[in-house]
Amino acid sequence: MTDDVPALEVVNLHASVDGREILRGVDLAVPAGRLHALMGPNGSGKSTLANVLLGNPAYEVTDGALKLLGEDITALDPGDRAGRGLFLGFQHPEEIPGVSVLNFLRQAISIRTGINDYSVLETRLKVMEWTKRLGMDNRFLDRYLNEGFSGGERKRNELLQMALLQPVVAVLDETDSGLDIDALKAVATGVTEIRNERPDLAILLITHYHRILDHLPPDVVHVLVDGRVVQTGGPELALEVEARGFDAFRSKVA
Ligand code: ADP
Ligand code: MG
Repeated sequence: MTDDVPALEVVNLHASVDGREILRGVDLAVPAGRLHALMGPNGSGKSTLANVLLGNPAYEVTDGALKLLGEDITALDPGDRAGRGLFLGFQHPEEIPGVSVLNFLRQAISIRTGINDYSVLETRLKVMEWTKRLGMDNRFLDRYLNEGFSGGERKRNELLQMALLQPVVAVLDETDSGLDIDALKAVATGVTEIRNERPDLAILLITHYHRILDHLPPDVVHVLVDGRVVQTGGPELALEVEARGFDAFRSKVA
């Protein structure tokens, strides 16, 4: 993998929902192996960016481009993006009644690896290895996806998917939201475990709090306000956000 081609690149991205422009020219690039934090107040467009990255058809890209390892993926559908190694950990993982965790993972791995009908046994073995490494209870494997899961279980289940799918880029949308301090630490430890296994993995960690960054120190911090990255800097930028609040960055938008 060459150093000069970022794992993920967002170029002058403009995107709308219901005809309203939410992202108004977002630029950022995450190199392989790096962890970038994207911070921004509620409503700034963080989840919109995550959805656009994954190709949610409710969001229309009106200008700009998305690149994965230098390849333009703007026109690809969500399945193709996932197949190429783009992963999204949702802010609010959906319940999918009737689909067991195990079956879901098996089908997702089939798409990612291109191996048709990935074996149940193989999936179970991999899942057992990773539930152990992520400190998860593996009894819920046979339960339906996210049905009745606690907030912490849902988030850790997203990490389990991330570990098994071996993405090139993982976008984690507020993986820390709604978690108590122990669950937060478990999530941070899980992300670190996955990074140790796959040093080339690029991560875009979306959050509006500093606290998860104490456990997952970012290489670079981007501040998103009103649909634009208004500042990019080192880890100290997260502390500045914490100290001054997002409003201090709003003036930079105009
Ligand atoms: P954040 O994740 O930073 O809190 P969002 O991206 O969720 O922000 O929202 C940004 C703006 O886009 C908000 O005004 C929100 O109401 C709007 N928006 C996001 N998704 C949708 C959607 N699916 N339908 C309509 N409006 C949306
Ligand atoms: Mg959000």
